[in-house]
Amino acid sequence: MTIGVDDDESAFSGLHSGEGLEESWLRICARLKDEVGEVEYRTWLTKIALGPVDGDEITLLLPTRFLRDWVRSQYGDRLSDLWHQEVPFLRRVELQVTRAGDPAAPTPPATHLSSPAQPEDSAPARPAAPDNRSDLVTALDSRFTFDTFVVGKPNEFAYACARRVAEKPSSAGFNPLFLYGGVGLGKTHLMHAIGTELLKTGQVSVAYMSAEKFMYRFIAAIRSQSTIEFKEQLRSVDVLMIDDLQFLIGKDNTQEEFFHTFNALVDAGRQIVVSADKSPSDLSGLEDRLRTRLGCGMVADIHATTFELRISILESKAASSGVVVPAKVLEFLAHKITSNVRELEGALNRLIAHANLFGRPVTLEATQDVLHDLLKAHDRRVTIEEIQKKVAEHWNIRLTDMSSARRARNVARPRQVAMYLAKQLTSRSLPEIGRKFGNRDHTTVMHAVSRVSELMERDAAFAEDVELLRRMLES
Ligand code: ADP
Ligand code: MG
Repeated sequence: MTIGVDDDESAFSGLHSGEGLEESWLRICARLKDEVGEVEYRTWLTKIALGPVDGDEITLLLPTRFLRDWVRSQYGDRLSDLWHQEVPFLRRVELQVTRAGDPAAPTPPATHLSSPAQPEDSAPARPAAPDNRSDLVTALDSRFTFDTFVVGKPNEFAYACARRVAEKPSSAGFNPLFLYGGVGLGKTHLMHAIGTELLKTGQVSVAYMSAEKFMYRFIAAIRSQSTIEFKEQLRSVDVLMIDDLQFLIGKDNTQEEFFHTFNALVDAGRQIVVSADKSPSDLSGLEDRLRTRLGCGMVADIHATTFELRISILESKAASSGVVVPAKVLEFLAHKITSNVRELEGALNRLIAHANLFGRPVTLEATQDVLHDLLKAHDRRVTIEEIQKKVAEHWNIRLTDMSSARRARNVARPRQVAMYLAKQLTSRSLPEIGRKFGNRDHTTVMHAVSRVSELMERDAAFAEDVELLRRMLES
C-alpha cells in the first residue's frame, strides 16, 4: 500500500501544510544536535534540506554526492527512526543530491550560528578542495573557554593538563596530551579552550578538527589530488588537535595518514592534543604503534560527574543566563540527570528558554512540566506494580487489595499512598493510574493525591513513612 494514510485523517492532516513537516524537521534537528554534538552537527547535518514526501517516503537533499553518501552511512538509520517517530507513516528516508535548479538551498534550522564556510557549500559541483589553513580553526566554539569550564574532582586533572598545554605547548611530558572520557563530559570543551587560549597570543597556529572531519578532508584531498597540500597544511601548524579519535577505528588509510602527520609534528616539536572515549590502551582497533605513541605523553581522563560537580555546573550556567533558578530546582536536576553534562545543560537551557519566553519564574513544578519527556526518559522506571507491592508490604495488606473494592481505612489509606506515589514517581496519567487500581476513576486518583499531600503536612510520622517508601522505590 503506497499511501496508507488515506484512512488516517490525523496523520495525514499534518502534512497538508508544509509547516508540519518543517516543524518535525526542526525537532529532529534538535535531537540530532544533542546526540551528535554541535561540531558534527554543523559539519554534516546542517547541509541537509527538506525535499518532497511521496507515500511513506521523505526525500532529504544534500549538496554533494560525497555528503549524501556520508550522511547515509553515518546517520541514515537514525534519520529514518527519527522521522518515523515524528510522522509515523513515514517509513523511509531517501537521500538525494540536490540537482541544479532545485529550489532547496539547504535550510538548516535557524537556531545557530553561521556555519563555517566549507568548500562543499560553495562549490557543490566540484570535488571539495582542501581548506586553507585559516579554515582549520573555524570550528572553534567561542563559548568553550577555560573560564566557562567548571572544575571539580572528576575533571580537575584533565583541566590542569589542558591549561598547562595552553600555557606552554610542546613541553616535555605533555606531548601528546590525550584526553579521554565518556560522552558529554567536557573533552571537546577543553580542546576548544586550549585552542582559543593559544590563539589569543597570536603567536601560534592551531588546527582543531574531529577525527571524522580529518578523514573527510583527507578523502577530499585524495579525490582532488591535493594530498600533498593537505599534508603540508597540517604539518605547518604549531598545535594539532584531533577530537574523538575512536572514530578512526577500522579506517585504516586515514589512521595511517594520521600516524604520519602525528609523527611529523611531534618530531618537529609541535603539540598534539587528542581526545577519545577510551584510554589509548583500551582503544583496541587502533594500530599498535599509534596507540603506543598516543600513550607516550600525558594521558588524562575525565571521570563521570559527581552530584557536587553537577550542582556547580548548573549554578554557573544559571548565573550566566540571568534567569533566577531556585536551588531546589538545581538540586532536582542534578539528582535526575546524571548521565552527562550535555544533557544537564540541555535541560537547564530548556527551562531558561521557557522562563524567558513566558516571563514566568522557574519553579519545581514548572520544571517537572517543561522537562516532562526528558525526565520520563531518565525515570528509574519504577512501575506501578512495584509501588503497589512495596506499599502493600509496608502496611501489611494483601496486594490484591490495591485493586479491590474494599474501603476499610486500613486498606484504603495504603491504596491512596500507592496512587500518590504512582503519580509522583511514574509518568502515568491519572486515568492510567486509576485503571491499575481496579479500574478506578481518575477523580479517585486525584482525590487520593491531594488527600495524601494533606495528611503528610499534618502528620509528620505519616509523611516520614511515605518519604521512606519513595526513597526505597527511587533507589
Ligand atoms: P565531550 O566532548 O566529552 O562529549 P563536550 O565537551 O562536548 O563533551 O561537553 C558537552 C557539553 O557540556 C558542552 O556544552 C560543554 O560546554 C558542557 N560541559 C562539559 N563539562 C563541563 C564543565 N566541567 N563545565 C562547564 N560545561 C561543561
Ligand atoms: Mg566531544
